[in-house]
Amino acid sequence: MSIRSKATAAVATAAAMTLFAGTALAAAPGAPGAGDPYYPTAGNGGYDVSHYDIRLNYQPGADRLWGTTTILAKATEDLTQFNLDFLLKVKTLRVNNAPATFSQADGELTVTPKGGLRKNADVTIVVTYDDVPGQVKDAAGFTAWTKTVDGALGIGEPQIASWWFPSNDHPTDKATYDVSVAVPDGTEVLSNGRFVGNTRLINGWTRWNWRSTKPQASYLTFINIGQFEIRQSTAPNGQPVLNAYSERLGENRDAAIASIERTSEVIEFEESVFGPYPFEAQGGIGTNDLGYALENQTRPNYDTAFFRRGANTYVVAHELGHQWFGDSVSTHHWRDIWLNEGFASYAEFLWSEHIGEGTAQENADFTYDLYPADSPFWQVVIGDPGSGNEFNGAVYDRGALTLHALRVAVGDDKFFGILKAWTAKKRYSDATIEEFIATAEEVSGQQLDELFQTWLFTKGKPAEAPGRASVGIASAGVTAKAAEPKSRQKIALTHEVLAAHDH
Ligand SMILES: [Zn+2]
Repeated sequence: MSIRSKATAAVATAAAMTLFAGTALAAAPGAPGAGDPYYPTAGNGGYDVSHYDIRLNYQPGADRLWGTTTILAKATEDLTQFNLDFLLKVKTLRVNNAPATFSQADGELTVTPKGGLRKNADVTIVVTYDDVPGQVKDAAGFTAWTKTVDGALGIGEPQIASWWFPSNDHPTDKATYDVSVAVPDGTEVLSNGRFVGNTRLINGWTRWNWRSTKPQASYLTFINIGQFEIRQSTAPNGQPVLNAYSERLGENRDAAIASIERTSEVIEFEESVFGPYPFEAQGGIGTNDLGYALENQTRPNYDTAFFRRGANTYVVAHELGHQWFGDSVSTHHWRDIWLNEGFASYAEFLWSEHIGEGTAQENADFTYDLYPADSPFWQVVIGDPGSGNEFNGAVYDRGALTLHALRVAVGDDKFFGILKAWTAKKRYSDATIEEFIATAEEVSGQQLDELFQTWLFTKGKPAEAPGRASVGIASAGVTAKAAEPKSRQKIALTHEVLAAHDH
């Protein structure tokens, strides 16, 4: 800071203090939640985070995690206190250099900064902590952190951050990140964005440094610690690619590599249908102990189970599809989950068509026929599936069918025009289903309320399979079913494993 700006800051502080004294009654505690009906205590009110600097140490085996997270934020209202979402035991906490009083209960870290905070004030929050995250449960008795035989997974949706860094834990408050974790030599630490090198420490430990320069949601920020083989290369567009493979993938190892190494090719294809790739780096991780896959920004994590029947590029197309739908354009509330899962599932149909394993139409026909009208599948209202039901299989399959119905209704040019307009307009932000419907109507010039009402908000099997040219020969009351596309087995496996992700 220059002397001149120091002087200005001093004047500004004096002015703020005077103002604060005069309007003390207007200041109030920040809300303990971001207003999400599914998760009322997720996120918080009263401030906006711009950056997290997470600097930790991790001891595998003991599962001990300790260090410091520094949060840069701005107050969005006059505050007497504010909350962070955090479950680990806090040792010290400072706000703008001054020790602040704090308390912890049910995942809420309530902070009372000395003298309060004025609206628009820059705030620096420094939290030090030390705990064993695998032993820490949230109010529902759940632990999202996974201790493994060689490290740990800090990977989860909708919540994981509270098990490793304090945050405003909701996709509506994105930030940039520096993640730096020291571990004993010979262990790898993986995270999002660009790998900015590791440093050998004198105590037999190595510090791993990662940087995310684009806005990133807290749940998409991850660490995966263990024994990994790392492969680095450069994508055709010049971006750094870093993939990693657990040394415990066993017989699935080669199939995982044969799938994840195609990341840049899949991104190149998806750019042609979704618009420019929104991030600064590429990659993927083949891992154990996760049980599903998660679209962590720039570097999804894929469980080994996706590769148990050989290479599977559909799960790669799905998780990379999320980079546009979910990561760059996030859900405003978790009820908007169709904007993530429906679109990532449709990415699989598009990829199937691209590589000649069945057109999107064939996949849509087959999916529509797969579930009889009386199946509970059709009873899920995918436009508002309910808390804890965001990852129901219907959100994926009916979600993809909804997009196919839109495509058939408006035609290819307008359909892909809608997708590209959406990813450009809402880039690095968050959005609601209603905003998507408005964009679809605006770009297509068509009234689409009925289509979305039927597919997103009405229980029951829609009467017609979208775009089906002919249902074949109906004889003796039996309608011919759509033939199975070549891609179906892998898509089915992908959704089967993804659906195991239920919390
Ligand atoms: Zn997904």
